[in-house]
Amino acid sequence: MKRTHYSSQITPEMNGGSVTVCGWAHEIRDLGGITFLIVRDREGLVQVTLFKKTIDKNLLEIVRNISRESVVTVTGNVKKEAKAPNGYELVPTDIKVLGKAESPLPMDTTGKVDADLDTRLDVRFMDIRRPHTQAIFRIRHLILNSIRDFMDREGFIEITTPKIVATATEGGTALFPITYFEREAFLNQSPQLFKQIMMSAGLDRVFEIGPIFRAEEHDTRKHLNEATSIDIEASFLDNQDVMVILENLVQRVYSDVAETGSKYLRTLGVELEIPGIPFKRITYDEAISIASDSGDNIEWGDDLSTESEHYIGKTIGEHYFIIDWPTKIKPFYALPYENRSQVCRAFDMMHPRMELSSGAQRVHSYDLLRRRITEQGLNPDGFDFYLKAFRYGMPPHAGWGLGVERLLMTMLGIENIREVVLFPRDRRRLSP
Ligand code: ATP
Ligand code: MG
Repeated sequence: MKRTHYSSQITPEMNGGSVTVCGWAHEIRDLGGITFLIVRDREGLVQVTLFKKTIDKNLLEIVRNISRESVVTVTGNVKKEAKAPNGYELVPTDIKVLGKAESPLPMDTTGKVDADLDTRLDVRFMDIRRPHTQAIFRIRHLILNSIRDFMDREGFIEITTPKIVATATEGGTALFPITYFEREAFLNQSPQLFKQIMMSAGLDRVFEIGPIFRAEEHDTRKHLNEATSIDIEASFLDNQDVMVILENLVQRVYSDVAETGSKYLRTLGVELEIPGIPFKRITYDEAISIASDSGDNIEWGDDLSTESEHYIGKTIGEHYFIIDWPTKIKPFYALPYENRSQVCRAFDMMHPRMELSSGAQRVHSYDLLRRRITEQGLNPDGFDFYLKAFRYGMPPHAGWGLGVERLLMTMLGIENIREVVLFPRDRRRLSP
């Protein structure tokens, strides 16, 4: 039963050799004199051919009784066959059913029948059997590999911070409360405070790839209640420096995926255009002025609406940064400019369709930070564990957070963020 090859590892040149493949019964076609069993594994399809005249009757009987999508293992001899899909077929010597599939199936896996997103998410295990859906998650894997490699080369240390926390990271964002023994706790909305503490700890450059939880009731195509964030924090760097790291990272990820993921991009019908760097930088003031051309008059100090984000994105047409945000709409940890404190050293990195990342140079002075917390209407007492790290030698530092799902969906031109999460959590969906 032990697999010797994935489908993709078998070639016509192996003619005469014996192999064992494992996978799902994708299709069974009985044409009388000849029966085909198409086995699908992670990497593709294998045609198993049974000639009625010469085949062992028991094998034929087994194949005729296999229900579609059952798990099978087939040992057979590779036979070069120009007419077969991959230039070879497998003439079986042994076939076993390892896991029988019930009929009817909850959804079609051949791509012949379209299912709506809700149906697909309800039976996600079936949906991911489809090469198209699987390609998304194979590319996600390539993206994460690429990021880890990039970060490692840039001298970043991967960390994992707690997701169960006592205090909100920042005001505003709704949190999911949980019961932590006899106390109330929350699911963390961002690793922000912990990654900053690591700057005081002297790790100098850290990154984390982990879940973030947002209890916001939005029901959009770009929001999840549980998302994955790539976060970095780096000491002795400023906002400009970490923006350069961010644009370099995005470009690297695109070129790595173009190189290592061409098979999956083809499956998805995506032609990747690698973004050029440096990304354009526009100020918040310029952004609202562009938005006003569309008739959307944003008052200085208000956040950009989704509509104006789209309009500005269309105008610019490629990845870009919005820099120099009003201090009052950015979190307390974003560093205000010394000479005009109503503006801060924060930035958003945008894909024409949506925001991908937010970052800033941080406040690293204890006194200023305490004041900023109060000014944002929060109580510094709740931030004691965080503030302490600023009292005994905190270097200047900067960082950002980048949403994995948004990076993936914009890269692949996917409309709905739920498509790029295995088991999305949104306002309505908690299972599976
Ligand atoms: P938005 O304004 O688009 O809702 P945000 O400004 O609240 O996003 P940040 O707190 O800046 O988000 O988080 C940094 C990044 O994490 C975002 O740019 C985005 O890529 C990702 N992210 C944040 N919240 C979500 C969410 N609810 N669903 C998916 N991704 C998210
Ligand atoms: Mg943001």
